[in-house]
Amino acid sequence: MSTVVQTKVAVPGATEVYPHRGCVTRRCRNERHGHRSGVVWLTGLSGAGKSTIASAVEAELFEAGWLITVLDGDTLRAGLNSDLDFSAAAREENLRRAGEVALLLAEAGYVVLATFISPHQAGREAVRRVVGDDFHLVHVRARLEDCIARDPKGLYRRALAGAIPNFTGIGQAYEEPPDADLILDTSGADVETCRHTLAGFIRERFAL
Ligand code: ADP
Repeated sequence: MSTVVQTKVAVPGATEVYPHRGCVTRRCRNERHGHRSGVVWLTGLSGAGKSTIASAVEAELFEAGWLITVLDGDTLRAGLNSDLDFSAAAREENLRRAGEVALLLAEAGYVVLATFISPHQAGREAVRRVVGDDFHLVHVRARLEDCIARDPKGLYRRALAGAIPNFTGIGQAYEEPPDADLILDTSGADVETCRHTLAGFIRERFAL
């Protein structure tokens, strides 16, 4: 364990912010749990399979003794981010908070499976910067027509009827990530194959 150092941090509107750093470091936690911690950021269209794959991988690695959790966009919007709407500024803030929460969990030793449509490259890059090391971008890719056919939450039906303005893929474009660390093609591979691929990727990337 290392000694405690408190360093002043520049925060707009606040002058005296000294984040407290305990002596139980991320490294200590990683050694205790036998794996590195960090963030696996799953981006993709609604219905592409982010939640399905994340839950399957979480269950597999949890059973294998990993400290792992899913950070789900809708769950965050139901609680911490319930004050935010879907305007451009609120979407940016939604992602900013998601990145900060993911970082806190990573510092606490977790592998975080973050499932956010996150349609814009700029937003994803901002989260990558906040999280720093041990951030891995996974593009859960599916053809739009497959997502519309699956429509697990009935959102495409409503968006196509004009009830949800700016719904990603319908009223608003999804920017394909040019910097994905892994692509899971759920139009071409079943859930089991995607689970196996992502679990293997995590075992490799988060090895101590
Ligand atoms: P998202 O979280 O990206 O909005 P969901 O996981 O909620 O998407 O829904 C994806 C739907 O697609 C589920 O009904 C799932 O059973 C189905 N599906 C079909 N093939 C796959 C696949 N290879 N991976 C993940 N989901 C798949």
